Amino acid sequence: KDEYVRKPEWLKIKINTTKSFTGLKKLMREKKLNTVCEEARCPNIHECWSERQTATFMILGSVCTRGCRFCAVATGMPNELDWGEPERVADSVEIMGLRHAVVTSVARDDLADGGASVFAETVRAIRRKNPGTTVEILPSDMKGDYQSLHTLMSGKPDIFNHNIETVRRLTKRVRAIAMYDRSLELLRRVKEIAPDVPTKSSMMLGLGETKEEILETMDDLLANNVDIMAIGQYLQPTKKHLNVEKYYHPDEFAELKQIALQKGFKHCEAGPLVRSSYHADEQVNAASAQ
Ligand code: SF4
Ligand code: SF4
Repeated sequence: KDEYVRKPEWLKIKINTTKSFTGLKKLMREKKLNTVCEEARCPNIHECWSERQTATFMILGSVCTRGCRFCAVATGMPNELDWGEPERVADSVEIMGLRHAVVTSVARDDLADGGASVFAETVRAIRRKNPGTTVEILPSDMKGDYQSLHTLMSGKPDIFNHNIETVRRLTKRVRAIAMYDRSLELLRRVKEIAPDVPTKSSMMLGLGETKEEILETMDDLLANNVDIMAIGQYLQPTKKHLNVEKYYHPDEFAELKQIALQKGFKHCEAGPLVRSSYHADEQVNAASAQ
């Protein structure tokens, strides 16, 4: 299908660049850090960074061993492991004064533990410097390795997030190596290891899924004890990436949010610009208050 669906008005947002915002970008370069906020040109960056709510740090380098067809991160030979990174992330969280820090990474299938030890160390480093900041981790599926999962959880994150990304039928086309059932299993196992840590998962809409399939995905996540769900619109990062099959109307997102809450999620963010980490600072309390 080569026809492009036109981008609707509600997705055309203006980004105001303020001085403090430019300063934060400079800070990331000085600290040699990558953020999803910048890499994915996230439309919420101004709101998240300027209001000191949250930022999503992408650790373990900027090159991924996988090549998912929706994702703009470069694929290839990964960078050398950088053990100074956890401290630099912790410093930046402090300078930015963040209420909530999200730590994600490229997939590192080349490493025996998938990078789990650096993840755990990053969480510990953030905590040492920023006792008031909540920390969420958003790792890859670690190839389903149970030991790596234990290492990840040893950092004691406040939220464990792993994205299901899309419905079962489209997983193979959309995600390079990750598998639908393996992701569900990962989320279930985290709950077994750490029952008190809220789990969360996100999906993108607009890749050709049906409403029935979206609802099935909600049921699958709930059956694996996931507490929080985020639902956003897929946006094509470049022409080489998967086409957008549909732009959902804000009302459709609102309806899906209602359904998700009725089905039993403790918290759900849904909207055209919702990303995995959007309003994540509010979710820690929402999930643990139940
Ligand atoms: Fe960064 Fe997430 Fe906020 Fe986007 S929604 S700017 S990726 S923290
Ligand atoms: Fe992007 Fe993550 Fe897929 Fe790598 S594993 S290509 S970072 S979505």
